[in-house]
Amino acid sequence: MSDYFQAVILDWAGTTVDYGCLAPAQVFIAGFAAHGVRITMDEARAPMGRYKRDHIAAILAQPAVAQRWQAAHGRPPADSDVAALFADFVPRQMASLAQHSDLIPGVVETVAALRAAGYKIGSCTGYTRAMMEIILPLARAAGYAPDALVCPDEVPAGRPAPWMCFQNAMQLNVYPMSALVKIGDTPADMAEGRNAGMWTIGLAKTGNELGLSLAEVTVLPRATLTARLAAARARLLAAGAHEVVDGLADIMPALERLHDRHAAGEKP
Ligand SMILES: [Mg+2]
Repeated sequence: MSDYFQAVILDWAGTTVDYGCLAPAQVFIAGFAAHGVRITMDEARAPMGRYKRDHIAAILAQPAVAQRWQAAHGRPPADSDVAALFADFVPRQMASLAQHSDLIPGVVETVAALRAAGYKIGSCTGYTRAMMEIILPLARAAGYAPDALVCPDEVPAGRPAPWMCFQNAMQLNVYPMSALVKIGDTPADMAEGRNAGMWTIGLAKTGNELGLSLAEVTVLPRATLTARLAAARARLLAAGAHEVVDGLADIMPALERLHDRHAAGEKP
């Protein structure tokens, strides 16, 4: 099956750990509240997947948030506010990461299937290296250890820039980029993969776009779940996803479809 494809590059929160991508969303809301500004869950989640410092700047750039900042502080938000919010965010996020590092169901089995099919396993994230030093050993102990990990503070820029994917390709020693598949749960992941010249698969159910824990998903009315999954799928496709599935556990058939598209002459 992977006679052309050589590697996948997996996102972390919402893709392999932290079902629903809950950890950062809650911390952004608390961090802004500490600076006197209320933000909604949707506002907190919209830029998800980006380097956390860029994510804070993107939240502040939303007109409704900027207006509330102006009302609370008597002036528009400035770069120094992004720096202050990020400095405050880092320890808050570090403190809550360990509680949100459980592997998403099916990850261990799916990664084993990917390896059996000949794929190398790269990874990248919006978390800093210091944050990943908390998550990585916990994931490893639970049975998931990728061959490579690149963080946004180790490259010139995080998503949607392609640098973390290029660095993964170098560490894995695989090329061309069209032989690698980017898999993640946010529009920023899809943009990153497309900017890197990669095939790209979005995950609609286990990550930020649905934004619910497994327990919450389980009790959601069927019609509500169907409608919200369709909206999540549409956002990921609009951001450049070649395929969208519910979660990493559903990835093998999607990879087979990409392989067919590649065999038919399509390029990412
Ligand atoms: Mg993610």
